[in-house]
Amino acid sequence: MKHKFSIILIPFLLAGCNSSVKKDPIMIIAPMESEHNVIYDTLVNKKDEVHGNYHFTKGYIDNYPIVLARSMVGMVNAATATTIGIEHYQPKSIIVQGTAGAHNPNLHKGDIVLGKDIIQNNSYVTGHKDEGAGYSLDNRENVGQEMVVDNQIEKIATLHSTKYLLDIAQNTNYDGKLVQGTISTGDPWNREIDVIKYYYETLHSDCEEMEGFAVGQVAHQYNIDFLCIRIISNSEYYPNEIFTEDAAKICQNYSINVVKNIIKNL
Ligand code: SAH
Repeated sequence: MKHKFSIILIPFLLAGCNSSVKKDPIMIIAPMESEHNVIYDTLVNKKDEVHGNYHFTKGYIDNYPIVLARSMVGMVNAATATTIGIEHYQPKSIIVQGTAGAHNPNLHKGDIVLGKDIIQNNSYVTGHKDEGAGYSLDNRENVGQEMVVDNQIEKIATLHSTKYLLDIAQNTNYDGKLVQGTISTGDPWNREIDVIKYYYETLHSDCEEMEGFAVGQVAHQYNIDFLCIRIISNSEYYPNEIFTEDAAKICQNYSINVVKNIIKNL
């Protein structure tokens, strides 16, 4: 009788052990409230935590642990929230998602760009010009940001979303145009079409936002997988494509589906 009891009990004990194995969460960075609320509402068994003035929510999607950060807008905020999130929650991968303005005239409001390449559009060194010689965008060289590669400090100008995350995102259903491309990050919001065209024609940038490179830089420094997802929310080429928050909501729903597919592929 005693023997039988332990045979029945063992599988339960083992199952219990298994489920208590700690899984490293997926961290999602959402700069603005409109880029945060749908994911927040989707999380189950939520717990809010604040570090400094940065707001994090621990919760679950499909029984997998998620950390959602409300980073606020801009590169410093994004890098800070990412660093705090990594130190507190040890994520296995980081997704930054939200809205962007088009540089590529073939992209329209509602199209989604996956950041195969992510560059910075506010960091550059100019060549010398004498007084009165004017200034031009062509005189700028983006020399990159210092990061560590193989224990050496190197300047990196282009970051990349991690290939397997990019593949999963590309294979996630989206009821609209979904492309891989180049995302530019900087603190400015550009509305001058000649400047926008320069970024598109010279730097081959498809769109601009204010957080992606900063999140990617921190992810690189901690050697954590990273994915940048952006929906076009505005295009200066087309007067009727002005910024509205509904695009952010669509991006959140797509990002949730990407997260679900990442979880399925773990
Ligand atoms: N009109 C809003 C804009 C928010 S700031 C306000 O004043 O509050 C811009 C945010 O949207 C950033 O998080 C950035 O990543 C994104 N974004 C969308 N379109 C952009 C554009 N054209 N240029 C730069 N950032 C853009």
